[in-house]
Amino acid sequence: MSETGADYDGPLYAPAKKVFPQSVKGTFRRIKWALLVFCLSVYYLLPFVRWNRGPGMPDQAVLVDLEHSRFYFFFIELWPQEVYYFTGLLILAALALFLSNALFGRVWCGYFCPQTIWTDLFLQVERLIEGDRRERMMLDAAPWTGDKVRKRVLKHMVWLAIAWWTGGAWLLYFADAPTLVRDLATFQAPMTAWIWIGVLTFTTYALAGHMREQVCLYMCPWPRIQAALTDPDALNVAYRADRGEPRMSLKESTRIRAKGERAGDCIDCFQCVAVCPTGVDIREGSQLGCIQCGLCIDACDSVMAKIGRAPRLIAYDNDENSKRRMAGRSMAFRQVRARTVLYAGLIALVGAVMLYALATRARFALSVLHEKTPLFVTLSDGSIRNAYTLRFSNKWAQKRDFEIAVGGLQGALALSPDLPDGAGSPLKVSVEPDSTRAIRIFVTAPKGLKIDKFSSITFVARDLGNAETVRVDDHFFAP
Ligand code: SF4
Ligand code: SF4
Repeated sequence: MSETGADYDGPLYAPAKKVFPQSVKGTFRRIKWALLVFCLSVYYLLPFVRWNRGPGMPDQAVLVDLEHSRFYFFFIELWPQEVYYFTGLLILAALALFLSNALFGRVWCGYFCPQTIWTDLFLQVERLIEGDRRERMMLDAAPWTGDKVRKRVLKHMVWLAIAWWTGGAWLLYFADAPTLVRDLATFQAPMTAWIWIGVLTFTTYALAGHMREQVCLYMCPWPRIQAALTDPDALNVAYRADRGEPRMSLKESTRIRAKGERAGDCIDCFQCVAVCPTGVDIREGSQLGCIQCGLCIDACDSVMAKIGRAPRLIAYDNDENSKRRMAGRSMAFRQVRARTVLYAGLIALVGAVMLYALATRARFALSVLHEKTPLFVTLSDGSIRNAYTLRFSNKWAQKRDFEIAVGGLQGALALSPDLPDGAGSPLKVSVEPDSTRAIRIFVTAPKGLKIDKFSSITFVARDLGNAETVRVDDHFFAP
């Protein structure tokens, strides 16, 4: 082949190699198991946690109530107008990801990402049914026998069952969980619920069962973004080449060392590659495919323990330390740096602003809409009338009574056709718990009142229970 590759007539893309990760024991594997159990328990059980919000209110701790446009999270209840809290949460999540990346590299990918967690779970099912790496490789290459069919059918059925529970659990966040479970069990759930569970079952089964590391390698944008955000001090899973090279077999290194010559600690056993869920050889340096799960550290540590060498030939390390070791200097870990301080400061700032906004958020709101057609009406007695629609939002779990007064236009009268005692000022309006109520109000300026074409007017709503007051300015139009 020429240097430019002009003579090359092979395939343009190498086919993806099938990965058969081997099981491994060690510190990072234990951490991953613990996090997997914790995250899946939270995901599957949280919809069943109850939270008493008072009579007539949903008692599910975490609920997206699409029908009434509410989001409930324990003691927090968000209305559609408060969607900016979600913006704040997204900003916080992005900053937390940046900070974790600056401190521990792709710790999100290796330990918390749903793709990693469900793939780990599906892989464990595969191991239990088909055996560890070697058995699975042999089974994969073997012709279709009764035993192979039985194992494969069983595996896919268990995968589908997990995927079904995963899709079903997601829906439980959008409806009363015990009711939906009962409706599903008695086949009384609405068709939309079945369709959504079907879609989510398929995506979970495909992503965690079949696509696995392909999602991390080809579909997820985070590895590319992470590569642009990292710096030489960030900790990443790394092979300590200065200690491991020159690599050679145990027999060879024992022979070389016996002669007093230097041999690296890596015995080229490929255990780190065998356990890797993405099939990466970490000894070739930092790579996009490495999700930094730390399993190769466990594998190599157990090899080192068996041959009586020090652990952490593969370890969480950084570029700076690699240079320092090569220069014969001691290692240093600088976790307090300008970017980590900046990210932490921003997280504290955004978090404080959100907490303050949440603590001081108004429990009732008033909006005023001036009716445009017509802008004003001249009545037969010469008085001028403007019409408005006032919308009250009562975010309390109890019914509230409000008093409305109109200010800024001396002598003007307010009445509402929607209230039983609608004449005179102040008007009184009751709003049911956790709901909104709209009423029309006519404001009339009697004949002879000196007004401009365009005057300011203020609507004042006062909560009769706790004297909380809201003022909204608008305009009064005249000929
Ligand atoms: S497990 Fe350790 S010793 Fe074995 S190949 Fe990997 S780095 Fe080398
Ligand atoms: S190279 Fe190591 S840390 Fe990276 S994905 Fe593979 S096993 Fe995990």
